[in-house]
Amino acid sequence: MTTTSSTPVASTAEAFRVIRHESPATDAERAERIANPKFGVVFSDHMARMSWDMDRGWYDPRIEPYAPLQLDPASSVLHYASEIFEGLKAYRWEDGTIRTFRPEENAKRFQRSAWRMALPELPVEDFMAAIRAYVAIDGHWTPTAEYSSLYLRPFLIATDVFLGLRQPKKAEFLVIGSPSGPYFAGGVKPVSIWVEQDYHRAGPGGTGAAKCGGNYASSLRPQIEAGERGYEQVLYLDAKSGQVLEELGGMNVFVVLKDGTVLTPVLTGNLLEGVTRSSIIQLLSDDDLKVVERDITLTELKEGVASGEVAEVFACGTAAVVTPVSHMGSKDFDLQVGDGQPGEVTMKVRKTLTDIQYGRAEDAYGWMEILA
Ligand SMILES: *Cc1c(COP(=O)(O)O)cnc(C)c1O
Repeated sequence: MTTTSSTPVASTAEAFRVIRHESPATDAERAERIANPKFGVVFSDHMARMSWDMDRGWYDPRIEPYAPLQLDPASSVLHYASEIFEGLKAYRWEDGTIRTFRPEENAKRFQRSAWRMALPELPVEDFMAAIRAYVAIDGHWTPTAEYSSLYLRPFLIATDVFLGLRQPKKAEFLVIGSPSGPYFAGGVKPVSIWVEQDYHRAGPGGTGAAKCGGNYASSLRPQIEAGERGYEQVLYLDAKSGQVLEELGGMNVFVVLKDGTVLTPVLTGNLLEGVTRSSIIQLLSDDDLKVVERDITLTELKEGVASGEVAEVFACGTAAVVTPVSHMGSKDFDLQVGDGQPGEVTMKVRKTLTDIQYGRAEDAYGWMEILA
């Protein structure tokens, strides 16, 4: 076995063995827990799991009861943050099927994140098999209320028992699922954004394009400070010039100009390549809007919002889908975007996307995949 960076392994393509929970939630308990769950607090009875070590590769794909993990205190994830994750949703359609949105994109990004963090790359078919096996057992935890979903959280941790810093030789892959109500209870609510000029989330050559836990831990201090100033989200600028828009702590950003042109920051290697972002670029382009991926400077944004040249700003990601931005502020400005209400382009693309995801519109792109 090689000890150099990337560790290619064959797919197990094995069936997941199932170890059933001895006392799963009753139908009544489950119905109550999925009736109106907040985001990320309720979990289903089971989880999918695969183990990996350098000699065996991926082994023992299984579904097991959802339970605390037993980890040696010297496990490398606990010391060096050798961790990556994904986030995608399973939707209950009217016809009773459970479907998900472009899961291979998440599987491929999971591989890219693993590569950057020197973790083992899980074959796309094993990522998919884990999600299918999990939904086959716990799909009945998918809520049915409008705009609710079963949020799936695949993640991978290094479990070497070793305090030296080296490429992990042992790892665990898990998928847990969390029934989640609509992100915006009671309709879409625009958010205010603090443009962060002191802290950065990513730098050139860093880990900005990887969905690794450390990126999010370091975003909490700026998030707290933005909150103290009365803003709900943080928009980061590039670390090199401090002048170019990158993204929010967990969402990509779009700027809609008065003439209908839509701008979004170009992927530089510092940004997380959102599945929602690329889907929106496609939907807007096919709706005959001009979408340009390029550098957007803070000066351009500030002046554009102040003059009305910038008509709408929105953020996007799997959890909140499309979020209108009503206000933007920083240490030297505080501006309302447009009339402060959700914009036309923002709300239209939000509807188009969610209609595809919930089966209310034709899936012309073949984006939806049946899980159960
Ligand atoms: C997950 C994430 C996004 C959005 O990605 P989606 O695939 O659309 O959910 C954007 N930015 C960051 C930093 C993220 O972690």
